[in-house]
Amino acid sequence: MKKIYLSSPHMSEEGYEQQYINDAFDKNWIAPLGKNVDEFENAVKEYVGIEHATALTSGTAALHMALRAVGVSQGDVVLCQSLTFAASANPIIYEGAIPVFIDSDKETWNMDPNALEEGLKKFPNTKAVIVVNLYGFTPKLDEIVSICKKYNIPLIEDAAESLGATYKNQQTGTFGDIGIFSFNGNKIITTSNGGMLVSKNKEIVDKVHFWATQARDNAKHYQHSELGFNYRLSNVLAGIGRGQMKVLDKRVEKKKYIFDFYKRELGGLDSIQFMPQLDECNPNYWLTTFVSDKDPEVILNELEQNNIDARPLWKPMHLQPLYSHCDFIGSGVSKDLFKRGICLPSDTKLIDEDLYRICSIIKSIW
Ligand SMILES: *Cc1c(COP(=O)(O)O)cnc(C)c1O
Repeated sequence: MKKIYLSSPHMSEEGYEQQYINDAFDKNWIAPLGKNVDEFENAVKEYVGIEHATALTSGTAALHMALRAVGVSQGDVVLCQSLTFAASANPIIYEGAIPVFIDSDKETWNMDPNALEEGLKKFPNTKAVIVVNLYGFTPKLDEIVSICKKYNIPLIEDAAESLGATYKNQQTGTFGDIGIFSFNGNKIITTSNGGMLVSKNKEIVDKVHFWATQARDNAKHYQHSELGFNYRLSNVLAGIGRGQMKVLDKRVEKKKYIFDFYKRELGGLDSIQFMPQLDECNPNYWLTTFVSDKDPEVILNELEQNNIDARPLWKPMHLQPLYSHCDFIGSGVSKDLFKRGICLPSDTKLIDEDLYRICSIIKSIW
């Protein structure tokens, strides 16, 4: 039986990625940096409509640098969306800061603005907020942004899953003081491993660029006044990114097709509720997800037996053993979603036949 993936790398049919990689080889721009890195940054800046960007080894590295750039250090509190992948929160620990987790909003499954405000009131020593556009869908970004402005707290937008999604026709990743993207293997486009940090603020991006290249002071000898990191993206991998940017719109279109397909085929099943979408939001539909009253384990097992890769929703951070001692603000929406939720295969290489097969297996359970 053909294996069906959740979301696997999908190189362009035209072979753009290979051309840019060959270019790097031909010019011996294997390392350290080179034209592919610059052009990949330019392509992302242009696409999302932001002034400054620096390509990094991963989305996690980008979040780590973002926290340093807004001055998070030992003992500071950082408010972070609970329903997300662990990489949203782990960099808080890298900096010795204290995560406090914020519950989801029923209307978006993303950060609940009311719980955020409650958190900001309760923790006056909050140094930053990390909001996530889960599965390529946005929270109520206007409200989140204005609450952070009101309390004068920097907002970091984890857009790792949402490249290509918009809110009020503005690209995600551009709502926070700093935005980050991931080009990990299962994201909507990939460089096998990679990330990017973007901001309107040139000083921030220059500073991150400096730290991410080992924080070398401007001197011929190797002189260091600050702690450095080796976080810059390789020129070879950036070549993949340049090629992938050319097909991003096509990938978003296909993800939407997959979402619509599932909604049409499965939307009528008792108790199924797909991830809600705000009117203001045009998601990139990275993964199609739903909650229902059926036990997710039963659905996942059935799919697995048919060689189909599906997943539960992200387990909220406040329920993770690693973070169970942390404060949590909310009423338990994220926990309920986790207990009832499924991520369906959303691979852009899926064909209708695959989608019908997946749907008929799910229907057979109902
Ligand atoms: C993938 C992901 C990250 C981390 O990105 P990497 O490039 O894998 O380090 C961070 N946050 C979220 C929400 C993600 O899905």
